[in-house]
Amino acid sequence: MTEHYDHIIKGGTIVTMDDSMRVLQDHFILIRDAKILGILPLAELSKYKAEELTDASGCLVIPAMINAHSHLPMTYFRGLADDLPLDKWLGEYIWPLEAKLIDEDFVYHASLHGAGEMLKNGISLTFDMYFHSEKIVEACSQAGMRVNVSSAVIEREEGMDYRLFERDMLLLEEFCQAYPLADCSLAPHAIYTCSEKLLKTLAGYAAKHDWRIHMHLSETRAELENCLAQHGKRPLDYLADIGFLDSRCLFAHGVWLSPKECELLGKSRSAIAICTDSNLKLASGFAPLKDMLEHQTAFAFGSDGVASNNNLDLLEELSTTAKLHKALNSDPAFLPAREAFAHVTSAAAEALGLDHLLGSLEPGKAADICLVEQRNLQSSPCYNPYSQLVYAMGSHQMRDVMVAGAWAVKDYQLCNLDESTLLEQAEFYKQRILKEIGK
Ligand SMILES: [Zn+2]
Repeated sequence: MTEHYDHIIKGGTIVTMDDSMRVLQDHFILIRDAKILGILPLAELSKYKAEELTDASGCLVIPAMINAHSHLPMTYFRGLADDLPLDKWLGEYIWPLEAKLIDEDFVYHASLHGAGEMLKNGISLTFDMYFHSEKIVEACSQAGMRVNVSSAVIEREEGMDYRLFERDMLLLEEFCQAYPLADCSLAPHAIYTCSEKLLKTLAGYAAKHDWRIHMHLSETRAELENCLAQHGKRPLDYLADIGFLDSRCLFAHGVWLSPKECELLGKSRSAIAICTDSNLKLASGFAPLKDMLEHQTAFAFGSDGVASNNNLDLLEELSTTAKLHKALNSDPAFLPAREAFAHVTSAAAEALGLDHLLGSLEPGKAADICLVEQRNLQSSPCYNPYSQLVYAMGSHQMRDVMVAGAWAVKDYQLCNLDESTLLEQAEFYKQRILKEIGK
């Protein structure tokens, strides 16, 4: 009897990213109910039928990528204030504009734009931190993308009722339950925007409810020096003493981590989201990748917001990071392409505790799959698919992107969003922003 499936993707070069790092030719992928059910040799194809058959000839077939740190609603700030240090950039541009402009509509439309951009770049899940998280969930779900949202907790005045943060997070958790592609984390914004008392309270809530914590950490030298002056400890040591490492944490940046802090992280369930492009552009520095690898610190890659990056392109992050650290370590063998690519797929999923679902193409995992077109000058000839992905290809080569068994991008076009409407909205908000800053 012929078995029926939702989708079959046949041919191409399947880069599984499974434990044996198998790369398969002349195979096909069986998909049903949003999951991969089998990867079999093409000779057996006649035994199976599907609603839809996609030919992946001439493509690399890869797991969709995971973005470990973003601020989707900042998409409309792209290129607005470049070439500035972080404190000036935040204090003089981003925060004043956010205070005046950010409302639910802004967040929703900017998130739709950012989600469309990420999907077209082969990203199926992002860990986002911002405000109005419900609108980000709605936008990403409409785009057909996974998102883990978190509402940034910032202590704006003394005497705040901390219980509100617990209540808001419980409400957000309940809200996300209605969206199969969405989840949430608790997000103390940073050690410099929350008091010790608040951080202790939030760590307690995270432990009590088993919430993931998503937080900025050790992004700049100033953050490190202020922490040493105020608390006599480095930032991660400070957080560890408050009880943060009892929970699963995702720390964005980690630029100024010491080898000892890397070791402490390596023994925890927590991970770093490395944001090389953003850190380089704001001249904050770069994460100590050699120390992190030596101490088995779990890490993934994040784009950060486009206001500081200025794109949402993980292949570019890999290329920049690999080359930067080869040069820094005077070692061309440092972070080989295969290992680098794992940190946006299999190793990223593992770092984030999602390897039961994402990060590789194998039976039982979610059908989050990209078909990357190789029949072009930029990708020929191909001796090694990992080398192609990290050093040669561009994210614009993602031809088709599937998330949870449904196409979100097909033949380079977004399936669930109208790109011309996204462009019109971007222009509309650009005019609002220019008016606000008096230009
Ligand atoms: Zn950030």
